[in-house]
Amino acid sequence: MPARLRLSVDRLVDGTGHPTQTGAALLIEGDRLAAIGPDDAIPRPEDALSLAFPRATAVPGLIDAHVHVTVSWEATREGTIERYGRETDTDLMARAAGTVERMVRVGVTSAFSCGERGLTAYQVRDAIARGVIVGPRLLVSGQPLTPTGGHCHWMGGEVDGSDGLRAAVRQHVDDGADAIKVMATGGFATPSTDPAVAAYPLEALQAAVDEAHRLDRRVTAHAHGVSGMQLAVQAGLDSIEHASMSGPGGRWTFDHALADQLAEHHVRAVPSIAADTRGQLGPGPGWTNLSVPEAFWVRTRMANARRLREAGVTLIPGTDGSDFGEAIHLELEAFNAIGFDPSSAIRAATLEAARHLGIDAMTGSLEVGKSADVLVVEGEADRDIRTLRRPLLVLVGGRMVQPTPPPPWPGPLPW
Ligand SMILES: [Zn+2]
Repeated sequence: MPARLRLSVDRLVDGTGHPTQTGAALLIEGDRLAAIGPDDAIPRPEDALSLAFPRATAVPGLIDAHVHVTVSWEATREGTIERYGRETDTDLMARAAGTVERMVRVGVTSAFSCGERGLTAYQVRDAIARGVIVGPRLLVSGQPLTPTGGHCHWMGGEVDGSDGLRAAVRQHVDDGADAIKVMATGGFATPSTDPAVAAYPLEALQAAVDEAHRLDRRVTAHAHGVSGMQLAVQAGLDSIEHASMSGPGGRWTFDHALADQLAEHHVRAVPSIAADTRGQLGPGPGWTNLSVPEAFWVRTRMANARRLREAGVTLIPGTDGSDFGEAIHLELEAFNAIGFDPSSAIRAATLEAARHLGIDAMTGSLEVGKSADVLVVEGEADRDIRTLRRPLLVLVGGRMVQPTPPPPWPGPLPW
């Protein structure tokens, strides 16, 4: 790679919410964005590699705020948990190497690993950082904290009681966790648990939050049911994954007072619509054939996500995606369908997601001084979100990665 790279593009969406720039150029020096502006105002150093992308849009590299790099959701005769339990850590790492490479090749340049077994996620993160494997900048929660027998107990993070949670948070931070994930309700991937029922009492969640915040770590809760979400808000969690708002027995509900509380306390919601889409409406890789009650149908989940946004809750794209390559595209197409215009959807998956993960000083927008995390796509991304499926160039920290278009959705989109 030359030390300097100059890109000219027809359109530039910088991720901050500023209007689209037309006829723009970016100058990259090493791993940083050195200059951005109108093409004729950006220097053309003789030693720079110059690339021109007419009829293309530059956007910040995308951020997926909820991934599982060691998990395969793909339906086989052997269930997800059984297979995961049988596989060795080496098997999981091998899968992760393929998954993170697919992620970055479709344009995801940062991602949050929201729960993996043992220490595998740290090793994947560090292998990417050392350049051993190709992948996005990975942030890691390690094993999700869950009660004995609770959701994803098969990742090894079972812990009970306030003292236990405090100790587990300290251990995770020692291990190298970038953030803490707590299971505040049951979940579908663990059929012995109930997604509508709270998993921890308030005091236990508060203990985890106190300890994590004391150690300067963000805490996010997995929560589907209203009761678990209420406890998460009361305990001071920073965000809620899924945030499905299901009522008792998995009935469809939407609690307006709870939505207002999320907005008031700046608790972000990561609705993970892509996972439901893949899981329930396949077929294709990632098709899990989950049998779920009405409260978790994709259209219901989208309606609730729309209402959360209308209540003033910040929605962050996070896909729950793992081994399928189009997760972030499905998520942003769903965001578009619930009322985000394309530029707002891109902003949600870039600067908003970077703020959510605490990495906005480094990435999340095309601004001078930030890491050169850039995605160039064919077409007008600010007018049609589906253009994100046509990557022409991916840069991660100034390093060029060969882009690969994601596989097309196998049927008409469900919205
Ligand atoms: Zn998940």
